Amino acid sequence: MGFTRGFIEFERIEQPHVSVEERVKSFCEIYGTLTDEQAKIQAGRCMDCGIPFCMHECPLHNDSPDFNEFVSEDQMSKAYNVLSATNNFPEITGRICPALCEEGCTLGIHRKAVGIKSVERKIAEYAFEHGLVKPIVNKNRTGKKVCVVGSGPAALAAAQQLNRFGHDVTVLEKMNKIGGLLRYGIPDFKLPKEILDRRISQLEQEGITFKTKTIVGAIKELEHGVHNDSLTEVRGEQLLKDYDAIVLAPGSESPRDLKLPGRSLSGIYFALDFLIAQNRENNGDCPNPIDVKGKNVVVIGGGETASDCIGVSIRKGAASVVQLDYHDELPESVDLTLAWPEWRKIKRTSTSHEEGCTRLFSTNTTAFEGKDKLEAVLTQKVKWGEGRQFDGIAGTESKIKADVVLIAMGYSHPSSALIKEFNLETDKRGNIKADTQGAKAYQTSCEKVFAAGDGRKGQSLVVYAIAEGRQCAKAVDDFLNRE
Ligand SMILES: Cc1cc2nc3c(=O)[nH]c(=O)nc-3n(C[C@H](O)[C@H](O)[C@H](O)COP(=O)(O)OP(=O)(O)OC[C@H]3O[C@@H](n4cnc5c(N)ncnc54)[C@H](O)[C@@H]3O)c2cc1C
Ligand code: SF4
Repeated sequence: MGFTRGFIEFERIEQPHVSVEERVKSFCEIYGTLTDEQAKIQAGRCMDCGIPFCMHECPLHNDSPDFNEFVSEDQMSKAYNVLSATNNFPEITGRICPALCEEGCTLGIHRKAVGIKSVERKIAEYAFEHGLVKPIVNKNRTGKKVCVVGSGPAALAAAQQLNRFGHDVTVLEKMNKIGGLLRYGIPDFKLPKEILDRRISQLEQEGITFKTKTIVGAIKELEHGVHNDSLTEVRGEQLLKDYDAIVLAPGSESPRDLKLPGRSLSGIYFALDFLIAQNRENNGDCPNPIDVKGKNVVVIGGGETASDCIGVSIRKGAASVVQLDYHDELPESVDLTLAWPEWRKIKRTSTSHEEGCTRLFSTNTTAFEGKDKLEAVLTQKVKWGEGRQFDGIAGTESKIKADVVLIAMGYSHPSSALIKEFNLETDKRGNIKADTQGAKAYQTSCEKVFAAGDGRKGQSLVVYAIAEGRQCAKAVDDFLNRE
């Protein structure tokens, strides 16, 4: 503990951020990095608890008490060593993680939690600025070859760990560029793509081979709504011959649809059609074909994807943005004696919500209306019963003017194109079946094939994807050493 009474003397410091009026004019990053002094104070509030629940709540088990101590003592290089021992990409989690650790912070029970995420970002940025993020090259090569399919956070973490164990790693990605949802899903105002490129350059220098525009499986088998830039199909059979092990990290790409009357009207899109096109436009590729300027946009769904659609629509000049969420509105706070240290079931307001959208809760979409193109969304209020059942409330029907609808209702499973290629067993949701514990951890029903990330777990968070990628790499290494 750099400051023994820091938690009494100092208040939490909120991260610097661009005002709503300024930020909606561009896709510039909203949050900034703490100054050296702010980071010292923020980290100095850590109580170095005997049982650090923050570490327990973080899926990577980042050692926040230790890195907080080093930051508060101005020992940034040691702080980076602690952080990078558990997290391959702290500059990414330090930007877009929902900070599960902070919900577990003991100080958060009676005062504001330590801003662990902002300290994490500070350490990572310091490390890049001061040349501490160097390629780590293991010169003792094992001669074993591993293929990683996909290039999102799970794949990148697995690839980096496997390469550092000494195996030769090739990453195959069907899109134009590496990064998965970090590149194509999440908007620049949350994660500028230079941050990703900077890290990928380290992975390249460490010796990982990346092949983009290369799909594993048959393109014709991709479900509606799954994106692909590849014309080159690689067969699973060939990979099984060429590699000693294969890691599948395909994400959860098959979007949930709303098969309602009027669904075929023009003007209704999946969220990622809009977000991917915008990320491509911001990268200098062709303009986003889904034009929302001056239009009434309705976003259906309540999660991060929906929130990102709101932020992008506002920046693209939408006349109005309405969010429909069939869940009930949650309370602003909960009794922490019951909730701590778990993730709190409270109403969360994202930066995009702050920028100006109408949020309608307990509101179900019942139909889309229009002649050739969409004109309105029909809704009805709902009442939730036991379990996950809800009933429409008679007399609460309503009509919302809409030119564009973005369906952001989540993703069911990875594309079956890949699953068919290896004839894999799936769980009841259609995810690739593999346990996370025991001798067969992360191993699929095909012996040489392992799986990690959203494609195994179901749609989740970047921090879980990195954690799964790391654990899967360890399982693959054990498997290769046993062979
Ligand atoms: C819009 C949006 C915003 C989000 N915001 C946040 C956030 O703020 N914070 C957070 O923690 N999480 C967020 N998430 C969730 C997070 O992005 C995912 O949980 C995470 O990216 C999953 O990582 P992954 O590596 O498993 O898969 P992905 O990132 O989905 O990457 C999978 C990759 O595999 C490739 N692939 C798939 N099949 C094949 C194949 N057959 N051949 C070759 N390549 C293939 C895909 O093209 C893709 O590049 C968000 C998700 C979305 C959609
Ligand atoms: S990765 Fe997320 S949960 Fe873990 S310490 Fe960082 S901000 Fe907290």
